[in-house]
Amino acid sequence: MVAPSYGRGPTRRAEHDRTVRARPRPLCHAVPMVTSPATTPNVLVLVVEDEPAIATAIARRLSAEGWRVEMALDGHAGVSMASTLRPDVVVLDVMLPGLDGLEVCRRIQAERPVPVLMLTARDDETDMLIGLGVGADDYMTKPFSMRELVARTKALLRRQERAARAAEIDTGTGASLPPLVVGDVAVDRAQRRVHRGSAEVHLTPTEFDLLVTLVSSPRTVLTRERLLAEVWDWVDASGTRTVDSHVKALRRKLGADLIRTVHGVGYAFEPSEPADGNGRTGGTEGTGT
Ligand code: CA
Repeated sequence: MVAPSYGRGPTRRAEHDRTVRARPRPLCHAVPMVTSPATTPNVLVLVVEDEPAIATAIARRLSAEGWRVEMALDGHAGVSMASTLRPDVVVLDVMLPGLDGLEVCRRIQAERPVPVLMLTARDDETDMLIGLGVGADDYMTKPFSMRELVARTKALLRRQERAARAAEIDTGTGASLPPLVVGDVAVDRAQRRVHRGSAEVHLTPTEFDLLVTLVSSPRTVLTRERLLAEVWDWVDASGTRTVDSHVKALRRKLGADLIRTVHGVGYAFEPSEPADGNGRTGGTEGTGT
């Protein structure tokens, strides 16, 4: 049985997505709650998507999970609703009239960090966005299945809960997680800051989580499926591309020498200094290539 997919227009070309409709479009409206038993009744999802049919289909499906869903049909409405409604997760289309998804994501994240699932038109567009460090937590290429959308949204919510719990434990005990120091890379998990040698490296939240996972098992090959499970908290073959794209972005920021590709399997963190835990600094600087 083939699950219906959403986001497929008359053609799959990105041009289609850029088509500006002439008909008037309301800025935003709420989707009536579906009265199914809610396991997580307080979750609020903001959907920013200018195609009303897709926005409504997404909203209906997410409402069926027992979540509250609000829709914004353009970028400016998305930014302002994220600010006033303080959603738990944002589903954000990249091609929006006026203010595009990249800028919406930046503005939303600048005001308050919130998990963002970005909808893109093509796989290479996803690579490009990850490369730009836009800061979305996950990416889905149109057309996509609603089942996958729900799975990924749930995974983002689990990640968020996990991070909140970790912060709570930290605050409660007054103790912070010790920094990870491998070779010339130092990862401060409490402050979420990364240095290579004496240079600070700025990572997006997802890049940071991926680096922590890799650095925690130096010189060990981690499969893409394992990285997907540990960082994104879900497993599906379609997600391994996200892993590849984020590794590419990490390499560019930290230096290509640190992460080894094991073709067809996964990745290994290869520190440039012996992993003696002495935290030697001043080693090879990331070249940023
Ligand atoms: Ca669009």
